[in-house]
Amino acid sequence: PPIVTLAGVGKTFDNGTEALAGVDLSVGRGEFLSLLGPSGCGKSTILRLVAGLDEPTTGVIDWHDGVAGRAAQRARNVGFVFQEPTLMPWAKVFENVWLPLRLKGVSRADAGPRIMAALESVGLADFATSYPRELSGGMKMRVSIARALATEPSVLLMDEPFAALDEITRFRLNDDLLHLWAEKAWTIVFVTHSVFESVYLSTRIAVMTGRPGHVATEVVVDEPSP
Ligand code: ADP
Ligand code: ADP
Repeated sequence: PPIVTLAGVGKTFDNGTEALAGVDLSVGRGEFLSLLGPSGCGKSTILRLVAGLDEPTTGVIDWHDGVAGRAAQRARNVGFVFQEPTLMPWAKVFENVWLPLRLKGVSRADAGPRIMAALESVGLADFATSYPRELSGGMKMRVSIARALATEPSVLLMDEPFAALDEITRFRLNDDLLHLWAEKAWTIVFVTHSVFESVYLSTRIAVMTGRPGHVATEVVVDEPSP
């Protein structure tokens, strides 16, 4: 069953740019969905709308997670991983992973086990007291994934997360992400312009054209997970 559905979603920005028009898309629970398409076709805009960071101009986004209403969007737990790991340089890895939980009022003591479990699952438990500058690019990205994981998001949105990494690190992270997804039964929406990455990672690919806004075709590359 879908966890979130976009129906007839359009987005026109204040400057008149029509980024999306008539997008119909549903995200199944537990699926690894890739949004594949060239730069500027509206992939990031879809993620921002799903995350509630912006409002669609037309159409509706329906959640099927039992959390009702627009006010609930704030409470709804959506994880976001960007291309830039956006870690606070002055804070240790542990504090960086704690931040979103801290903003929700979770104390250091209460968050501790979840933070360490998240770091463990990305192979960085030994780096909890390191600073971001002591880590490689791949390791920073792992911290960023751990930070999202620690909040136990119902949907994890990833916006070209590995695009800035070298190819070997990227392949490694692809593998690790796939294992994590299988292990944790996450729902992931993964934005990429890499055909390889989308085919390698996802259960389903939504191919978007450069034409303003259409999710032109959905190509099933594998059966969605149960
Ligand atoms: P993608 O993620 O596929 O590269 P985006 O969703 O970032 O595409 O952008 C889709 C279109 O909307 C592009 O033409 C982009 O320039 C435009 N756009 C994105 N954000 C804004 C904004 N805040 N204001 C105006 N135009 C925007
Ligand atoms: P990358 O993805 O950047 O190649 P990985 O995240 O795959 O790096 O890490 C590979 C391993 O190399 C890590 O688990 C870690 O043990 C070690 N490593 C990488 N960078 C450093 C570093 N700056 N300091 C200590 N160990 C490191």
